[in-house]
Amino acid sequence: MKRVVVVGGGLSGLSAAWWVAQSAREAGVGVALTVLEREPQAGGKIRSSRKGGYLCEAGPNGFLDNKPSTIVLSRALGLGERLLRSRDEARKRFVFAGGRLRQLPEDPVSFLASDILSIRGKLRLAAEFLLPQGDPDEDESVAAFVRRRLGEEALDRLIDPMAAGIYAGDPETMSLRSSFPKVHQLEQRFGGLLRGMLEMRKMAAAAGAQGPQSAGPGGVLWSYPEGLEELVASLADGVGRERVRTGVAAEGMERVGRAWVVRTSDGEAVEADAVVLAVPAYDGARLLGPLDDRLADLLHAVPYVPAAVVCTGYPREGVPHPLDGFGFLVPKSEGRRILGSLWSSSIFARRSPDGRVLLTQIVGGARNPELVGLDDAGLVAVVREELRITLGIEAEPEFVWIRRWDKAIPQYVVGHGDRLQEIEERVASLGGVFLAGNAFYGIGVNDCTARAQELGPQVVAWLAGAP
Ligand SMILES: Cc1cc2nc3c(=O)[nH]c(=O)nc-3n(C[C@H](O)[C@H](O)[C@H](O)COP(=O)(O)OP(=O)(O)OC[C@H]3O[C@@H](n4cnc5c(N)ncnc54)[C@H](O)[C@@H]3O)c2cc1C
Repeated sequence: MKRVVVVGGGLSGLSAAWWVAQSAREAGVGVALTVLEREPQAGGKIRSSRKGGYLCEAGPNGFLDNKPSTIVLSRALGLGERLLRSRDEARKRFVFAGGRLRQLPEDPVSFLASDILSIRGKLRLAAEFLLPQGDPDEDESVAAFVRRRLGEEALDRLIDPMAAGIYAGDPETMSLRSSFPKVHQLEQRFGGLLRGMLEMRKMAAAAGAQGPQSAGPGGVLWSYPEGLEELVASLADGVGRERVRTGVAAEGMERVGRAWVVRTSDGEAVEADAVVLAVPAYDGARLLGPLDDRLADLLHAVPYVPAAVVCTGYPREGVPHPLDGFGFLVPKSEGRRILGSLWSSSIFARRSPDGRVLLTQIVGGARNPELVGLDDAGLVAVVREELRITLGIEAEPEFVWIRRWDKAIPQYVVGHGDRLQEIEERVASLGGVFLAGNAFYGIGVNDCTARAQELGPQVVAWLAGAP
């Protein structure tokens, strides 16, 4: 029987454990799994809280179906029937720009009619068609790339809010290639973004596709009736609750022959033929530092931004806006103190009691990290003021739920790609150590489950080769 220890019981660790078990079964390799999770509850950033009929998410609100891995995993776990599709109206997204909400265009025709960019901004964007391709070897920042190809206004009104919405990040420091690899590839493959999008449409039409499945950033958002916690709970059941040891941290690891010994906070030494590290980069640095100084420095160099999630619930009549969409994001230039507001009860069914609405605000990020340090009353005051200005809500929320993350989201800053390559080389040279987690291969739910699916057979191949 081969032994595998997975450090970290967030989505990455639980899904890696699950895929290792699947791959081992398929390969006929006997595997004894242990998942170590420092917190009393597994799930990491995924936590769904139902209180008084409101359902709040501490972390992710859902995942898109433009990548298959989480849908595939859900079905494999027997959660297929629980998959909950967002409402169609949630594909309408807004940006708070120039002091009011403006709908993001859903296609090129509505883009021409929309007022999200001035005529000058639209012309500048259209000129992208004529621009030469950039240097494929340059690790350019998101902001530099967008300025070069689409212009300052598109950066301010379209891309900066998107960077805030996905990464809570700053486009001036984020690496385009690592943060938005598809956009980078579009330029490299087709010479430009507009050219690339036209070619992709032609290819989709030739392949008989009906055009893009949805508006919004590529796909429809999904969750489960009781939130994303259903996924991590089902994973923990699938792996076996007795194998997921919560409240136990890994404190160090040592090589013993070809195997590893992982020391835990409860004083045990757990032996393993392979170790999957599915922890934030800074936690990985602490574990691997004593084995490789340089590796620890590289891992410590992945920055994180803090964020607070502030959910507010109101009687429907307390909110003058129709809330007919996904919600809105705010460009930095507006000087507002929320990154955006998700209209949770418009996105998914049963997120609020009948006759009530639930909004989820994100505060902090790279833009205003200091706001995450406010106490609850301070955060609520900020959110109330911002919702008054953006949505005209004067009413006091009847329901408030807050969750702060000191290190919410890793940032793939310029240099991330080179750093990752060196991290991978150094980890590979340790032998039998595998990296998962959202610090490396994509920050979203789908990226975590895709990486886990990839790792399953890799870990089993290593085990099969072990003496
Ligand atoms: C506010 C917020 C909103 C988000 N929204 C979305 C969204 O809408 N869509 C989307 O796709 N993604 C979203 N994300 C990103 C998504 O939540 C993450 O990518 C994903 O949950 C990360 O999972 P993970 O397992 O890699 O890391 P984590 O969830 O951070 O899990 C790591 C785990 O490792 C444990 N750990 C650390 N060190 C040790 C140790 N030494 N021993 C044992 N255990 C240890 C930690 O306790 C933790 O449980 C959001 C994230 C945040 C914070």
